[in-house]
Amino acid sequence: MSAITNHLPTAELQALDAAHHMHPFTTGNELAEKGARVIMRAKGVTLTDSEGNEILDGMAGLWCVNIGYGREELAEVAARQIRELPFYNTFFQTTHVPAIALASKLAELAPGDLNHVFFAGSGSEANDTNIRMVRTYWAMKGKPSKSIIISRKNAYHGSSMGSGSLGGMTYMHAQGGMPIPDIHHINQPHWWAEGGDSTPAEFGLARARELETAIGELGEDRVAAFIAEPIQGAGGVIIPPETYWPEIQRICDKYEILLIADEVICGFGRTGNWFGSQTLGIRPDIMTIAKGLSSGYAPIGGSIVSDEVAGVIGSGEFNHGYTYSGHPVASAVALENLRILEEENVIDHVRDVAGPYMKEKWQALADHPLVGEARIVGLMGSIALTPHKESRAKFASDEGTVGLICRERCFANNLVMRHVGDRMVMSPPLVIQPTEIDTMIDRAGRALDECYAEVKSQGLFKAAS
Ligand SMILES: *Cc1c(COP(=O)(O)O)cnc(C)c1O
Repeated sequence: MSAITNHLPTAELQALDAAHHMHPFTTGNELAEKGARVIMRAKGVTLTDSEGNEILDGMAGLWCVNIGYGREELAEVAARQIRELPFYNTFFQTTHVPAIALASKLAELAPGDLNHVFFAGSGSEANDTNIRMVRTYWAMKGKPSKSIIISRKNAYHGSSMGSGSLGGMTYMHAQGGMPIPDIHHINQPHWWAEGGDSTPAEFGLARARELETAIGELGEDRVAAFIAEPIQGAGGVIIPPETYWPEIQRICDKYEILLIADEVICGFGRTGNWFGSQTLGIRPDIMTIAKGLSSGYAPIGGSIVSDEVAGVIGSGEFNHGYTYSGHPVASAVALENLRILEEENVIDHVRDVAGPYMKEKWQALADHPLVGEARIVGLMGSIALTPHKESRAKFASDEGTVGLICRERCFANNLVMRHVGDRMVMSPPLVIQPTEIDTMIDRAGRALDECYAEVKSQGLFKAAS
């Protein structure tokens, strides 16, 4: 058996990594110089690197390891499924038990009439499916002109041509010919950064009404769908004002625009319900799922689709699918993950125990001189770093300069948190316990102190004029 173990010193692993491994969203040459951190193993909420450092994973990997690391049950299920049936496709009028069981379970868990699942290998693939599915839906209903999908600036929906186009990351659009045609972006409900003098409630309504304006300008007969994350994740954990989603829902209902909720992060307990749509009061026609679906133990994603949309799509041939749609091993792993989430009451734990406990501690970080706001829903949170709380000012330095310093100070204190510009974001495993939350907040506080000292000593504690 060729186990992949740390038989090489860290420096050699880093040199091989630099020579042969191209990293996502990374400046390769810069990383090659510095050397990537090598993660060896993990248990619960704790990572161990090749130097033996024990690091609290405040990001659950990439927002996905909801049940925490090291669950034997998932290893067992994967091994059993590989022995029984490692692969079969679902294209040519065949199916298999793991895909059947997982689709049925998802239909049971999903709200309303979301009873049908189209599987993919990732969130990006699932959103590519959604683009083709909503356009095909309208074409099959005799309205092929309805092809525009409205999304939002600073949204994240994946990194493929389609999903990256849906996303609103301009630095992604700048490379490789995105966005594809017929994707339209409206502004995000990011009150802290863009709300000016309006109240959050006013601002939430105004930003939601941009959807109505866009539909008016583009023409109702040309708009197929609106897609959004219930709470933006990669964009900086941006929790919309309470007025936002009810107004979006009203507009989608009024103009018969399909509503796609991208639940890739918010799904599977992150917000204290099974789905973010339940927490935010959204009634989507399609939900995108991935990440927490398998807690990241296997690559799998999908679209959970309403009776209406699935009925229309089913009336013709949908010329779409992936070799790994409903992959039996990934499906079996996901199903076991859902069993654990359900039987161990992990979602109740988020809602009633870990979420409220974290909220109290997290919000207290707002007293720090470097922190403007500290917000959280369930177990996803963000803090805005600012040189001036009252005016919600940005730093005079390039966006992300201070955030990067803060992230480095987190690493140095054995805590993984990400920075999105000058915001810090967190999303720990959902099984995190109160004592671990204490440790996390402790380390975050120390990182903020050290960051503050560094920012001041470098003369960066200065507002943009
Ligand atoms: C991560 C993410 C995706 C993309 O999922 P991948 O599995 O990385 O392709 C899509 N939508 C949201 C909201 C995400 O956070």
